[in-house]
Amino acid sequence: MISKVLIANRGEIALRIIAACREAGVATVAVHSEADRDALHVRMADESVCIGPPSAAASYLNITAVIAAAEITGADALHPGYGFLAENAHFAEVVQECGMVWIGPPPEAIRSMGDKANARRTVTARGVPVLPGSSEPLASREEAVALAESVGFPVILKASAGGGGKGMRVARDPRELRQVFDTARHEAERAFGVADVYLEKYLTEPRHIEIQVVGDTQGRVVALGERECSIQRRHQKLIEEAPSVAVDALLRERMCDAAVEAAVAVGYTSAGTVEFLYNDGEFYFMEMNTRIQVEHPVTEAVTGVDLVLEQLRVANGQPLSFRRRPAIRGHAIEFRVNAEDPVTFAPSPGEITELAFPVGPGVRIDTHIYRGYRVPPNYDSLLAKVIAYGADRREAIRRAKRALSMFVIGGVRTSIPLHLRILEEPDFVEGRLSTRFMERFATRE
Ligand code: ADP
Repeated sequence: MISKVLIANRGEIALRIIAACREAGVATVAVHSEADRDALHVRMADESVCIGPPSAAASYLNITAVIAAAEITGADALHPGYGFLAENAHFAEVVQECGMVWIGPPPEAIRSMGDKANARRTVTARGVPVLPGSSEPLASREEAVALAESVGFPVILKASAGGGGKGMRVARDPRELRQVFDTARHEAERAFGVADVYLEKYLTEPRHIEIQVVGDTQGRVVALGERECSIQRRHQKLIEEAPSVAVDALLRERMCDAAVEAAVAVGYTSAGTVEFLYNDGEFYFMEMNTRIQVEHPVTEAVTGVDLVLEQLRVANGQPLSFRRRPAIRGHAIEFRVNAEDPVTFAPSPGEITELAFPVGPGVRIDTHIYRGYRVPPNYDSLLAKVIAYGADRREAIRRAKRALSMFVIGGVRTSIPLHLRILEEPDFVEGRLSTRFMERFATRE
């Protein structure tokens, strides 16, 4: 059995994992950069090791330093969180080769899904619908244009190795496609080290709906229902909810089945997410994220399942704590509170000079901030996640408004005012969502 977990991450997710370990009676080791000496995950873990200078490349992404920290402290398992090394199959292999338990899916599953063009092929073979497009990376501009003409414009170019909304380009006609083809390849090369791009049909107003899955080493894979993440800015999620107003019982069944097929196709275990775009009654596989996600708490709220504890169980070789899909109860909405200007979205690092957390029923806050904490400029700007839960969507919205308006964060600008404005939007309140929501919202002002 796992007795000491090293957490190769920082911020709120590091604390979330420490929380699960504490409940499970497992010791924890935090790693941190020089910029994170005063971080809460360092204080809350049983032990901590400094792994390098502030830049993520030199610390949280430094495989040698992370592994050395695990060896020095005698950790017997490693949880990668999300971001950083979480979807690095090579890192997962190194962890295992060093005799530690990797709290995540098998490295081969990470690798198959990490190459998005390959993932498309793999799931298509299992009957999971994908958007029309290329099954291999595109060899030339002219191949791209010919394919785009056969599937119909608009199309989107994506980096095979992509992630985090980077390396995507939309083209509305052949001229535009020829223009963006090289740019997309350069961007992919720069961001991911691989220039390969593929193409698929671009949906102009889809919903982003994803399915949480979790699998054990006994061969059981269970889908835990959907999350809708259509409220995005530059392809980055801002607000996520479960369930989706667009999904009825029958559609949920179909999407959950498709997600399980995709997971089984790569021998998946642990927690993962199969992302789909949804349009006019049809859904299409986009990609699989082979890790715990930022938005996992909304699923926890409506299913009662602790996903990180399930990851620990699976890593210990135990079966999942449930046999079939848990019932979905109530409604949960998560708001990402970022340290950024609510209008320009420019990052706003600095010291938290004032802090008061909201009180009252139905609210969960996952965060690593405290009064006097200095938000470093080196990492992502997520300060806290506010998760509001209610018996139905209306109650969740009321509780969210109450919680966000009672959340006081002084010293840095945050996205709270933006969330409060979105909560007043008739389209949001009525559940008329799409990935274009924020674009409309911004241009109307
Ligand atoms: P990443 O891994 O970089 O986050 P995804 O493939 O998950 O990239 O796509 C992120 C977002 O980009 C989606 O949620 C959606 O808003 C948009 N998107 C991606 N593919 C398409 C498409 N074919 N049509 C319309 N929007 C898309």
